[in-house]
Amino acid sequence: MPARIVLASHNTGKLRELREILRDKISGLNVDEDVVDASTIGAVDVVEDGVTFAENSLKKARAVATATGLIAIADDSGLSVDVLGGAPGIFSARWCGHHGDDTANLNLLLAQLSDIDDEHRGAQFCCAASVVTPTGEEHVEHGYMRGTLLREPRGEGGFGYDPILVPEDLEAPYVGQSCAEIPREVKNTMSHRARAFEALIPHLIALLSDEHGSDEQ
Ligand code: IMP
Repeated sequence: MPARIVLASHNTGKLRELREILRDKISGLNVDEDVVDASTIGAVDVVEDGVTFAENSLKKARAVATATGLIAIADDSGLSVDVLGGAPGIFSARWCGHHGDDTANLNLLLAQLSDIDDEHRGAQFCCAASVVTPTGEEHVEHGYMRGTLLREPRGEGGFGYDPILVPEDLEAPYVGQSCAEIPREVKNTMSHRARAFEALIPHLIALLSDEHGSDEQ
């Protein structure tokens, strides 16, 4: 029987990226992709009161592993701005004062940085990716994507702060484009989320093969 894993997130932009990233990375594994879906976790609400990306990521994965009895994968992510000492950080999704208003978050941040010169507009997306099993085994890994913040949003793709971050390691023909301008496949090869999950995959493979091994006994 294929192994089953569940993605612990309600954020549709993030889920779309996560599915794409994971499908690439686990395509060689015997995983039931239909279960790589958030529908199972509609009823699980997690209070993200951790003070680090890692803590919040683990909280989500633990809650969903417990509720579903499946291996659960979660991430917690955000934008850390150099001149703001790493803020918005874990407050990225509610920087404007309420949760999940991407446009208000982004506009407030741009206003706060309006006096900051281009040379000091460095920032990075950060992601803590975690996997937790129903029996309590857990792993967490981090990934980062550094870049520079624009003064005005650019591009129609992506979500969250994508329209204002220009990644630093883009190659031609995408050099200078924001994360909302580059194709999703390009972002998925270099994003904080892709890098964190890249590091998490060996743990996931080991857990899935343990589970598969115990199925066969
Ligand atoms: P989370 O859902 O608690 O991890 O919060 C993530 C928040 O950080 C989102 O609401 C976005 O504002 C921001 N964020 C995280 N990753 C990205 C990304 O890849 N692009 C744009 N914004 C992101």
